[in-house]
Formats: sequence, C-alpha cells, structure tokens
Amino acid sequence: MTASTLSTIAVLGSGTMGGGIAQVCALRGFNTILYDITPDIVNKGLGKIQASIQKGVALGKTPAEVGEAALARLRATATLEDCAPADLVIEAAPENMDLKRDLFRRLETILAPHTLLASNTSSLSITALAETTQRPEQFLGLHFFNPPHLMALVEVVRGDRTSAATLQAGVEFARALGKTPVVCKDTPAFIVNRVARPFYGEALRLLGENAADAATIDALLKSLGFKMGPFELMDLIGIDVNFAVTQSVYHAFFEDPRYRPHPIQQRMVEAGMLGRKTQRGFYLYPD
Ligand code: NAD
Repeated sequence: MTASTLSTIAVLGSGTMGGGIAQVCALRGFNTILYDITPDIVNKGLGKIQASIQKGVALGKTPAEVGEAALARLRATATLEDCAPADLVIEAAPENMDLKRDLFRRLETILAPHTLLASNTSSLSITALAETTQRPEQFLGLHFFNPPHLMALVEVVRGDRTSAATLQAGVEFARALGKTPVVCKDTPAFIVNRVARPFYGEALRLLGENAADAATIDALLKSLGFKMGPFELMDLIGIDVNFAVTQSVYHAFFEDPRYRPHPIQQRMVEAGMLGRKTQRGFYLYPD
C-alpha cells in the first residue's frame, strides 16, 4: 500500500486529536470515517469538526467549495464494522495500552488484508501495540500534534517490525496532509514528548513549591519565546492525557525520577479538572 493508493481513512476516537486528524484528512481529500464508542460522543465530535471547517470558511482561510467537499467526505459512526472500507486506520483512543490493544484486536477481524494500522499514541510502544495484531509489518505510529489542523509536525514511528513500505506510506501520507513528517524510532515518548517532559515536570514542581503561580511561570516561559506556557499547554492537551503520558514515560524509563509525575496533576484528574475540555484546568474557560 502506498500513500497514493490510500483513499479511505478511519479515525478511531473523536476527541481532541481524533476529531482534529479527521478534519485534516477530509480537508485534504480523503474519505474519512470517524468512530467513537457511542452515537452521542461521535456526533459531538463531528459537530466540532463541522463548526471548525465552517469557521475556516467564514474567516476566508478555507475556500467554500473545499469546506463543503470536506464535510461531504466525513462520516461518523459508533459501529466499528463501518470502518471496514478503510485503507488506513488511525487510532486516537485514550492513552491506555490495554484499551488500544483490545481495539486493534477487534478491528482486525473487520478490515481488509491490505489495510494499514496506525496509532497516534504519545508514549506507548508501537512495537508492543503491533504485536497484538496479525500484521505488525503494516503497523506504524503516526503521532500528530495538538491542534492537528495547525501543527505541521507528524512523528512517523517505526516499530521493530514495521516494513519499509509501510513506513514510506506513512511518510507520504503525512506529506499528502500538508504536514512535515519526521521518522522516529520506537522509544518511549519518541522525540517531542520526551523532550517536553521536563517542560511540564519542572513547571509543576515550581508550582508545587509555591515558587510562583501558573500565570507567572507561563508568562516567564513565553518571554523566552515559547508560544504557550506549560500550564496553558497542559490545559490544551488535557490534564488526563498529559498525566497518562507522564506516567507511561516514567514507567518506561524504570521510574527515572526525571520523569516522575506530580501529585498536582493526579489531584486535578481525580477532581475532573481536565483543562479546556472541561472548562476548568489551571485556568478557567467559560463557554
Ligand atoms: P480525548 O480524551 O480527547 O479523546 C479520546 C476519545 O477516545 C474520546 O472521544 C473517547 O470517547 C474515545 N474512546 C474511548 N474509548 C474508546 C474505544 N474503546 N475506542 C475508540 N474510541 C474510544 O483524548 P486525545 O487527547 O484525543 O488523545 C487520544 C490519543 O492521542 C492518546 O493516545 C493521546 O496520548 C494522543 N495524543 C494526544 C495529544 C493531545 O495533545 N491531547 C497530542 C498527541 C497525541
């Protein structure tokens, strides 16, 4: 399978990342199937994509006919079997190894033999996920960044058994989406999330020690040239997602203290303060 023969993409999970990835695929001419676990959730995800595309058209960033064609290419479903026509599946479900493995296991009985499988995981092993399936050579990581319609980078992750053809298809697919692919080895958190761990971790320690408040730390880092401060970014990512990724990286490096999660994040997750998606994180986001 090459990128030029990929025409239908199924995206699993219609949250922050799945919705954004589906939006980019549809805008770039791919038939796009968006799947989530209930009709309510997936319709909410679809509604957000529709609103975002319409906003792009209203602002003059997307030509009206491109927006209309993208909306016509999008289909939402809560039935996994509807993903059968996909040439490529991109999984963007929660950062949980067992959940992702179970999803790939169920998928495989549904898909055609040629279909490529990709995970948008931030930190889990692509090799380990691939081994759940009967087609580890056709499995790769496609790690998009948040928000997918704005961020240029895509890490294309080679698992131990990813074939050269699959990797190449991933690279070409990322280019077809207008993105900049970077090929990575399957190491915990790949490149960007590994480098980013101390950005969040040290900021949380500063906050925990009352060295400064979140707004001050954010302002200081932005004064150094960062587009967003660590607390703004954690709110955008989702505190639950960031916490899950931090835990996964910490364990993957055998509890190296450099990557230790912070109780502040755990408390926020337990309290449902997940950042922008719940209108409350380190900052408040009234509707
Ligand atoms: P999210 O919580 O916003 O969305 C996850 C979606 O998956 C939800 O809509 C949920 O209903 C759905 N879901 C739950 N169980 C499912 C199942 N069994 N099958 C299919 N869908 C299921 O999470 P997110 O931020 O979109 O993260 C998704 C993945 O992308 C994670 O692996 C995360 O690490 C990765 N990621 C996140 C970011 C980020 O900034 N948020 C960036 C890059 C990668």
